[in-house]
Amino acid sequence: MARVLVVGAGLTGSSCAALLRGATRERVSVWDKARGAGGRMSTSRSARDAACTADLGAQYVSRSAGSRGSFYEELLSHGILKPLSARIEGLVEKEGSCDYVAPQGISSVVKYFLRQSGADVFYEHHVTHITLRDGKWEVSRKMGSPELFDVVILTIPVPQILQLQGDIVNIINERQKQQLESASYSSRYALGLFYEVGARIDVPWAAKYITDNPCIRFISIDNKKRNIDSPEIGPSVVVHTTVTFGREHLDSDPAEVQQLILSHLESLVPSLPKAASVKCQKWRYSQVTKAVPNCPGQMILHTQPLLICGGDGFTCSNFDGCIESAMSLAETVRSHL
Ligand SMILES: Cc1cc2nc3c(=O)[nH]c(=O)nc-3n(C[C@H](O)[C@H](O)[C@H](O)COP(=O)(O)OP(=O)(O)OC[C@H]3O[C@@H](n4cnc5c(N)ncnc54)[C@H](O)[C@@H]3O)c2cc1C
Repeated sequence: MARVLVVGAGLTGSSCAALLRGATRERVSVWDKARGAGGRMSTSRSARDAACTADLGAQYVSRSAGSRGSFYEELLSHGILKPLSARIEGLVEKEGSCDYVAPQGISSVVKYFLRQSGADVFYEHHVTHITLRDGKWEVSRKMGSPELFDVVILTIPVPQILQLQGDIVNIINERQKQQLESASYSSRYALGLFYEVGARIDVPWAAKYITDNPCIRFISIDNKKRNIDSPEIGPSVVVHTTVTFGREHLDSDPAEVQQLILSHLESLVPSLPKAASVKCQKWRYSQVTKAVPNCPGQMILHTQPLLICGGDGFTCSNFDGCIESAMSLAETVRSHL
């Protein structure tokens, strides 16, 4: 039985794996370097209480008139998505568009697609080299033995594709390299603040866009945003920095960055109690500011055996962009098998 490897357990990789189910008789594996599913749709747990969670990347998904409705309907019917009912100050409402949150955390969307895929999912599998070996792809990772695959699908941010070693370096031709190199991403930090049960956060909004602070762009009372207020679970707060702050502090000491963000947060929301634990996440590749040109959804790097790459870098940084890429990847893989 042929083996297909999807690199990346984010929204693109998981939905692509789900789309491949049933379409092929091949065995699909998903590898991700992280310790869990989600990628930039990540949900973090408090170090002190696993029930207290916060979405550190994507906050909500927006369905527009042009969206592929069936994906939203499926997620809504399984309770994975629910309409956003909380108040978000500064959210620009577009006509005909609808916003959804994931009550169990945004990573539950990715986990849902991984379950649907029936794929073998492996975490802490950091791909380093991709090399041709006897008509197959030999994929090496940081720890563990290399494995052979008939098809490899890369759904990692574009700059990370360009960091891979092995034959892939020479397989990417000069034109493709230029196209891939021209993609760009913003950078941001996210802070997750986790509180003890009973902590009170008295603000009249569930989330708020900030327009006049050099450091902070967005604050969310995450449990309120997801409409899951419970007396048994401590509240959580998420802070996203501005892109300028993210860029300027990309290589700064994380502890100093965390302190800086916390001091700006205190000036913006002085009534916030002290958090029981804090997590600082650097998003070096946060959102796509310029997608790979002339490659809608994916780029074929090698045909026989197939090596293909996709992700939001080939569309745009939202739910629809990832699904569009996943559909394009799955269609190409099917036509090659
Ligand atoms: C701060 C922030 C806020 C956002 N807000 C929103 C929002 O409100 N709404 C919205 O729709 N979108 C939002 N987005 C964008 C959205 O999160 C992304 O577009 C989407 O998650 C991208 O999914 P992906 O699967 O293409 O990539 P990723 O989620 O980046 O997945 C790629 C995966 O590949 C893994 N990986 C990378 N390199 C390797 C390797 N060498 N070996 C193995 N694994 C590897 C990574 O660990 C990761 O899990 C936001 C993003 C950020 C960062």
